[in-house]
Amino acid sequence: VAVILLCLVNTKTHAQMEETKVDINQKVESLLSQMTIEEKVGQMNLYNGFWDVTGPAPEEGNAALKYNHLKKGWVGAMLTVRGAEEVRNVQRIAVEESRLGIPLLIGFDVIHGYKTLSPIPLAESASWDLQAIEKSARVAATEASASGINWTFAPMVDISRDARWGRVMEGAGEDPYLGSLIAKARVNGFQGDDLSAHNTIAACAKHFAAYGFAEAGRDYNVADIGNGTLYNTVLPPFKAASEAGVKTFMNSFNTLNGVPVTGSSFLQRDILKRDWNFDGFVVSDWASINEMIPWGHAKDKRQAAQIAANAGSDMDMEGYVYIQELAQLVKDGVVKESILDDAVRRILKVKFELGLFEDPYRYCDDDREKEWTYHESYREAVLDMAKKSIVLLKNDNNLLPLKKNGQTIALIGDLADDKSSPLGSWRIASDDDTAVSVLEGMSSYKGNTLNFSRGPEVFEGTSTFLQEVKINTTDTSGFDEAIATAKAADVVVMVLGEHGFQSGEGRSRTNLDLPGLQQELLEEVYKVNPNVVLVLNNGRPLAIEWASEHIPVIVEAWHLGTESGNAIANVLYGDYNPSGKLPMSFPRNVGQAPIYYNNYPTGRPTDKDGNVFWSHYTDVEKTPLYPFGHGLSYTTFEYSNLKVTNTYKENQEVKVSFTLKNTGSLKGKEVAQLYIRDLVGSVIRPLKELKGFELIELEAGTSKTVEFVLTKKELGFYTNQGEFVVESGDFKVFVGGNSNAELEQGFTLE
Ligand code: BGC
Repeated sequence: VAVILLCLVNTKTHAQMEETKVDINQKVESLLSQMTIEEKVGQMNLYNGFWDVTGPAPEEGNAALKYNHLKKGWVGAMLTVRGAEEVRNVQRIAVEESRLGIPLLIGFDVIHGYKTLSPIPLAESASWDLQAIEKSARVAATEASASGINWTFAPMVDISRDARWGRVMEGAGEDPYLGSLIAKARVNGFQGDDLSAHNTIAACAKHFAAYGFAEAGRDYNVADIGNGTLYNTVLPPFKAASEAGVKTFMNSFNTLNGVPVTGSSFLQRDILKRDWNFDGFVVSDWASINEMIPWGHAKDKRQAAQIAANAGSDMDMEGYVYIQELAQLVKDGVVKESILDDAVRRILKVKFELGLFEDPYRYCDDDREKEWTYHESYREAVLDMAKKSIVLLKNDNNLLPLKKNGQTIALIGDLADDKSSPLGSWRIASDDDTAVSVLEGMSSYKGNTLNFSRGPEVFEGTSTFLQEVKINTTDTSGFDEAIATAKAADVVVMVLGEHGFQSGEGRSRTNLDLPGLQQELLEEVYKVNPNVVLVLNNGRPLAIEWASEHIPVIVEAWHLGTESGNAIANVLYGDYNPSGKLPMSFPRNVGQAPIYYNNYPTGRPTDKDGNVFWSHYTDVEKTPLYPFGHGLSYTTFEYSNLKVTNTYKENQEVKVSFTLKNTGSLKGKEVAQLYIRDLVGSVIRPLKELKGFELIELEAGTSKTVEFVLTKKELGFYTNQGEFVVESGDFKVFVGGNSNAELEQGFTLE
C-alpha cells in the first residue's frame, strides 16, 4: 500500500522546484498589482459551505450573500464543501464568473481520515511510529483530495497535559519532542514532496498557540503560562511544522497571558513570521476574530478586524469581519494596504503551489472520486495503524494472548458492538456506523465460543458530532444477563469507556471515570469471574485506579477508526504483538490533573527512594497511574550496558549506547526511549525530558546495540527571553521502556 500511495505523489527535481518558486513569486506580484482593495480583502475571507448544488442558485439569505461574494471575487477559500461536484460548482463561480478568476482553497477538517478513518490522532501518537503516522496522513490526503479538498485543518499540534480537555484526542499528547516529530510526519504525509500533485493537500498547524493550556481543561479559555513553558513546550511542535514546510497555520480561541492569540502580534508576526520566517498564511479559527469582542479585547467588529489584521491573522474564517470592515479600515488609513498585500501574497502563493491556477478543477474529478473514495487499499493501511496504536497497559497472569480454541469467551459492554463510537470524534465526511465493531472482529475467530451480552445501556439514543452524548445512569437492566454470561465463561472481554463523541471540541470533562454504570458493571462482573480483559475505548487518559488494582488485563484501544474491531481482535488473539506506548500520563484520579512526566523538582529535600519531603498529596500517591511512555508487549525487553561517550568539548556530541534484548519467547517491537536531565540551570530544568527514541523489532532471544547522539539541539533549552542556550554543567541520561527509565548515567558538559 505504502508503495502505491507514495508513488502517486509526483516528484520534481530541486532545480525545477527553485524555478517554480521564482515563477510563482512573479505571478503573485503580477496578480496582486491588478487587484482592488475589495478583491484583496476577498482573498482574506473564508466561508463555510452553503447550498445544495443540485438546486438553483440561492436568491436570498446568507447563501445568496456568499454566492454574490463568490461572483465578485470576494471569497478566498471555502470550508466543508463536500464532494467533487459541489467543489467544482463553487470553484466554477470563482474562476469563471469573478473578474480575476482566482481559484478557491477548499478546506476541510481531515483530522484522522476523510471517509475511511484512522485512529484518532492521540491514538496514532501512541504508536511512536513516524512512518506509519506519515502514511496515515498520506492516505487521508489521497481520499480527501479525490473529493475536491485541497487544504486540511490538520495537524493539531497543541501539547496538552490536561486530560480534562476534550481536544487532547486531536493532538500528540504531552511531550514536545514526540509532538514535534509527529507534527513533521503529519505535515509530510498531507503535503507530500510536491504540493501541486493532485493527491497532496496543504496542511495547517493549529491552534497557534497554547490552546492546549487552557485553564483547568476548560475549552476556549485563558492560558496563563510562563515563557519557559511557552518556548520549551508549546512552541516546538509549531516550529517543527513550520520547518517541515507546512503551508498554513490556524490561530485559536484562547488568550495567551491576557491577549487573545488571534490578536497577538507577538505570536503571529514576531515569532512565526519574523523569527521562523514562515511564508505561508495564518487563518483564524472559526470566528475567532469576532471572539475578541466578548473577550473584551476589541470594542466592535471594526476594531477586531483592525487588531487581527495588524497582528498577522491573514484570513477570517466564517467571521464576516474582514469582508465587512477591512476595506474601509484601509481607506481610512487605519490599516495599511501593505498589511493586505502581505496577507494576499501569502494566500495566493499557496494557491499557485497547489497548482490551482494551472487547473482549478484538478481536485474535482468524478472518476477519481469514485475510484479513491473508500478505496480497498486504505483498509489495510488504517488496520495497520490501528494495531500499532494499541497500548497494553497491564497483562497479569499472561491472560493475553487469548487461546484460539476450546474457550468460552464472554464479550460484554454496550461499546462492544458499537459501529459508530470507535470512529471517534472529528469525522465530518465519514458515513456513520462504518467501523468494524469488537463483536465483528472477534467473531472472525471461530475456534472459541463467543457469547455477547450488552449489559446496561451506556449511551442513550444516537450521538452526533454536534450533540452532547446522553449517558444512562439509572436503568440497570442488562446487568443480570451480563453477569450470568461472565460467570459461564473462561475469559471475559469487557469493552468499556467513552463514546467517540465524548471527546473533541467543547467536550471537556471533570470526571475521568468510566461513564454511566460501567464501573459498577465492571466490579460486578469481576466478582463472578476475575479473568477479565478490559478493553478501553476513549479519547483521553482515564482515571481507572480501581481497574488497575483489580483487573488483570487492560488494553488501551482508544477510538481506532474504521478497522477498530479487527485491530483489537488481532491484538487480543496475539496475531499482532502490541508495541504502543502512552503519549500522555494516566492519572490516578482527576485531582492530579494536570499531570505530566517532564515536571520539575521542588526545593524540598528528597530521600533515597525519591520521596520528596511533604510535597505530596495526603490521600493519593503523587505518581501517575501509568507513566508517559508506558506500554507492554507479549514479549519482554531488557535494557543493559548503558554507555555515555562524551566528546562535547571536541565536537559537540554526546554518544549514548545501550543493549536492548528481547528476553521473552516471541518476536516483538519496543520503543526504546532516551531522556535527559540538566541538573543545574539558570532556569530550572525538568526532572526528565525525552530526547530520543527508536522503534526496534527483535526476534526472541536476540539483542541489539542502540545508539543515540545528543547534540546542542537536544542538550539546550530556551531561556525566558526565548534565547536557545546550552549551559555547561552536570547532566544525567536515562534509558528504558517508559519515562521511569531504569538505567541512568551522568556526564558533564564543560
Ligand atoms: C475548530 C478548528 C476547526 C474549525 C473548522 C473550529 O471550531 O476549533 O479546529 O478547524 O472549527 O471546522
